[in-house]
Amino acid sequence: MNLAPAHSLCLLYRRTMKRQYLDLARQIVDRDFAGMEKGLRPCGNYLEGPLNGLEFFELPKPRWESLHPIMALAELYDLTGESRYREAFERIWRSIAELDRHNNGGFSSGEQANGNPFDPRAIETCCTIAWMALSVEMLRMSGDSRVADELELSLFNSVIGMHSASGRWATYNTPMDGVRRASAHEIVFQAREGTPELNCCSVNSARGFGLLSDWALMRDAEGLVLNAYAPGSIQTVLPDGIGLTLTQTTDYPRKGGIELAVRPERPSDFTLKLRIPRWSRHTKVTINGVAVNEGIEPGRYLALRRRWKRGDQIHLSLDMGFHFWVGEEECAGKISVYRGPLLLTYDRRFNAMDPDDLPAVEPHGLKGRLVAWNGRLPPFLLMQFKAADGRVLRLCDFGSAGEGGSPYRSWLPYAGGKDPGLFQPMASPPEALETSRLLRFAARVRAVPGQEKAVGLGHMKPDDFLIHLEGIERDWSEVRRRLEEARAAAAAEPETARGIKLRAVLERLDREGILTPERIAAAAAIKEEILARYCLAQRLTRFEVSTLQPAPADIRDAAFPPAGTAFAPGPVLESVGLCDVRPAHGGRHGLIYLRLRHEVRQAGPGQLLYGADGPVKVWVNGIEMDCRPYATNPAIPGQFQVEVDWKTGVNELVFALVTQSGRAWGIFAAVLEPKSNVTDQSTKI
Ligand SMILES: [Zn+2]
Repeated sequence: MNLAPAHSLCLLYRRTMKRQYLDLARQIVDRDFAGMEKGLRPCGNYLEGPLNGLEFFELPKPRWESLHPIMALAELYDLTGESRYREAFERIWRSIAELDRHNNGGFSSGEQANGNPFDPRAIETCCTIAWMALSVEMLRMSGDSRVADELELSLFNSVIGMHSASGRWATYNTPMDGVRRASAHEIVFQAREGTPELNCCSVNSARGFGLLSDWALMRDAEGLVLNAYAPGSIQTVLPDGIGLTLTQTTDYPRKGGIELAVRPERPSDFTLKLRIPRWSRHTKVTINGVAVNEGIEPGRYLALRRRWKRGDQIHLSLDMGFHFWVGEEECAGKISVYRGPLLLTYDRRFNAMDPDDLPAVEPHGLKGRLVAWNGRLPPFLLMQFKAADGRVLRLCDFGSAGEGGSPYRSWLPYAGGKDPGLFQPMASPPEALETSRLLRFAARVRAVPGQEKAVGLGHMKPDDFLIHLEGIERDWSEVRRRLEEARAAAAAEPETARGIKLRAVLERLDREGILTPERIAAAAAIKEEILARYCLAQRLTRFEVSTLQPAPADIRDAAFPPAGTAFAPGPVLESVGLCDVRPAHGGRHGLIYLRLRHEVRQAGPGQLLYGADGPVKVWVNGIEMDCRPYATNPAIPGQFQVEVDWKTGVNELVFALVTQSGRAWGIFAAVLEPKSNVTDQSTKI
């Protein structure tokens, strides 16, 4: 996930034409992308997964880093012509565009895809940039102007929004609603001596602007494709070798009028394609004053084929009427308002009211006017509206929102419901949202392992796991209702986009048998079993810690601490429940002994549950009970279980932990005793 050798190898092959680069790229993609072979780590399943209909957020590695290896699929299609590469790539791109691209053109919620564009978690700068890089590949491959609409949305909103006005810093998170903070303040753990502002986001952000050179103007078989509108000049060379300058004189995206001067060195026959954005319902185009009457369609290119000569002048007039996105899920009761490519946003510094006191927006007949701002940091665009209650609401472009450190909102209060009469060209398709709700619930059910592993708690913190199981039980009746609705709709409208999408998803869920009463009942049974067994688990906190000792090459050779080994009380890191060994090793490599004394009222069978940040060995009452040479960070509470016969009175537990060159934080430990021994339920995990 975190490396993209497959993509790099494709680029190497393109440059050198050495066969072995292509062969290795194909080997990685065909075998390792699947990664389900025995003995291999499970990988992203980027090829088979989407071909089998999985959404990107359902794949094993839905984080943003995956987008870089996925770019290999586009290259491989280009190099080999094999359609499965193209198909998989396009499906991944569409899945993100439909389900994980937010209203501001940003990608990711909490650094990854979740199948919900209303999810309010962090929209990381790196994720949006990776999404744009993926989109450039998609645009190259598909020649679909709607992909360029996406790039424009991301550029004018998220990318400008992630940069401070001065360009001095960039954000880690550019949320739909919130404030802007410098990445150097949010992901401090990446800072190093001498480079306090160096982090993943601060280095990635500027690529949002740099990518413009990849997609602003492109070439195809017939000529040139103009994707980006903005003031400035672009110089290029036509397929017949003639130099050309395209100059745009415009105040776009503040206004919709664009004067485009076409200046070839000599007259030349070629097609110039102009992107007609999907939100521009009424577009007018003239060439040298003569109106173009055919081929102007929102969401398509307008192809202008002629003999172009110096002095040719195109006038393009885009429709800057408002368009909308009605929120759902976490954004229910809210609406986003757009003007052209710009998302309009409330910022407290331009308004008299606080963010939680905004008037409701009435989208029908919405009227606003452009106003000037004479204060500090003027926004790129500012509009003034009169709300139904008479108050004045000012909205700026998303890129300028929060620039002064004040809170902003791009989801605005909305009293209306779903409204088929509203124009929502940048919103997620309703059928994609409808199916993703079912799929997201299915993913939660799928995350419950089989009975034995689940009760062993090996995969998750016990309390998180209980919350997870309770959530499934709680939400099931609602999901069941939606499932019935979906089945009825799939049967009633077999030919519509909604019907086709619903049927495909329902068939997949049925094949897996995942959303069935039996599966939900099984999850409930696991919860009961865990409650029955683990309400008696007690976390141990009174650790004693040795000084740093030399570590054996292999933890299996570690000896029981010799008599006379000095121990001192060890601190407990309450947030994670670990005994913190960092003060004891101070970042150095070695071995640390940890000791616990646990008193048992009545002898009987039980368990020791523990987690360790490094290779570890365990003794109970002087007898070696367990050894985990491959344990590593992060320690997972209860990851390892040891059956123990407790003796009456004090039982001594000793851990030997290798500090992994000083990276180990510590040890988690809890014990289970016979039910009769424990009366105090307050200590349950
Ligand atoms: Zn980052």
